[in-house]
Amino acid sequence: MNLLIKNGHIINPDSGIDKVLDILIVDGRVDKIDVNLDESMADKVIDAGNMIVAPGFVDIHAHLREPGNERAETMESGCKAAMNGGFTTVTAMPNTNPCMDNAAIVSLVREKAHRAGYAKVCPVGAVSKGREGRELAAIGEMVHEGIVAVSDDGSPVATAELMKKALEYCQLFGIPVMEHAEEVTLTRGAVMNEGFMSTKLGLKGMPTVAEDIVVARDIILNRYVRGWLHVSHLSSAYSLDMIRRAKERGDRVTTEVTPHHLFFNDSRLEQFDTNFVMKPPVRVEADRLSMIEGIKDGTIDCIATDHAPHPHEYKNCEIDICAFGIIGFETAISAVLDVLYHRYDVPLKRIVECMSTNPAKIIGMKDDRLRVGAKADITVFSTGSEVVIRPERFKSRSRNTPFKGMKLKGCPVYAISGTRVVRCDVGEVQ
Ligand SMILES: [Zn+2]
Repeated sequence: MNLLIKNGHIINPDSGIDKVLDILIVDGRVDKIDVNLDESMADKVIDAGNMIVAPGFVDIHAHLREPGNERAETMESGCKAAMNGGFTTVTAMPNTNPCMDNAAIVSLVREKAHRAGYAKVCPVGAVSKGREGRELAAIGEMVHEGIVAVSDDGSPVATAELMKKALEYCQLFGIPVMEHAEEVTLTRGAVMNEGFMSTKLGLKGMPTVAEDIVVARDIILNRYVRGWLHVSHLSSAYSLDMIRRAKERGDRVTTEVTPHHLFFNDSRLEQFDTNFVMKPPVRVEADRLSMIEGIKDGTIDCIATDHAPHPHEYKNCEIDICAFGIIGFETAISAVLDVLYHRYDVPLKRIVECMSTNPAKIIGMKDDRLRVGAKADITVFSTGSEVVIRPERFKSRSRNTPFKGMKLKGCPVYAISGTRVVRCDVGEVQ
């Protein structure tokens, strides 16, 4: 099949292209990128006038729940949801049941994702066996099966000794250790950020220092062994500053922030809505504004959703017993464009770097995916259309999103991966 994307504004930070061009895709490969390509060459034409065309968006932090919690999500529903939200590649975090700490499960996850035939899935292996924090998992074998990073996400890497070993060992393979930075002795029983708002609401809070202590430990260890530390879902301004200084010293530290930490602060908890309960929690306004500053000055490398589906009953309950986390694939682009592009003047090129080319580099994908000869791997989005988010249209099996019913400016329009072309639908476009 020949597909022609007409008049789209291509923004490709890898090649430097930033102008209106047509793209002809033949049998799932980019055949031509040029002006005024002839429509008669195509079986299908996408009119991308007033839209942005970018290398496919990549989400390096997602929980696809299979094996073990298929009621929340399956490989198939997760991969469909990813593309419906405009992502062509996502990771699969290892806190499955059984835990993805060995080559057999990595292979199973890849096979299931491949069979689903939507977004590409890059598995992340566990750091420790069973994510129990005692001994290293079979990282070498998992690398042979295709993991792109390791993480004990959901929990921090339990001890400094284990983290040091993981950083040293992963150097051999050139992959990062992704850290869920949380000193758990400071967060037990807590549901939201610790501060004025948690006191006002009478809820137990997680202090930012719980994040800062682990980030500090890891930066010190990483500098010592010259490893590659990736700090997941950053939320604290102090941690951001430590990462900024580590980068200035030349340490290999990368980091990500979620759309919800860019969008919300802890005043949202006032309605006791469990869809605002996640780890790390949304913080105070000053932390949120520093995350936006971190995106602008380049300290934060990418935006990742931490897509965390849960069945209805895990969220439809009292706030102090609900599950942590929200889904993110199908709201990320709208939320990010609304807050970063429309309200804080972050350039589109920077947004494409944070959601496409930078995360791709972190998980070892080839440079410049949007070029003649490459497999089609493209995200098309609109900055001008407003969308009212309708979770009932989502492809995810779960509905735990705080963005439900919100009107956001900007939305995904197409996700294209090889011969698979998905028209995104996340709500009513106005
Ligand atoms: Zn986490």
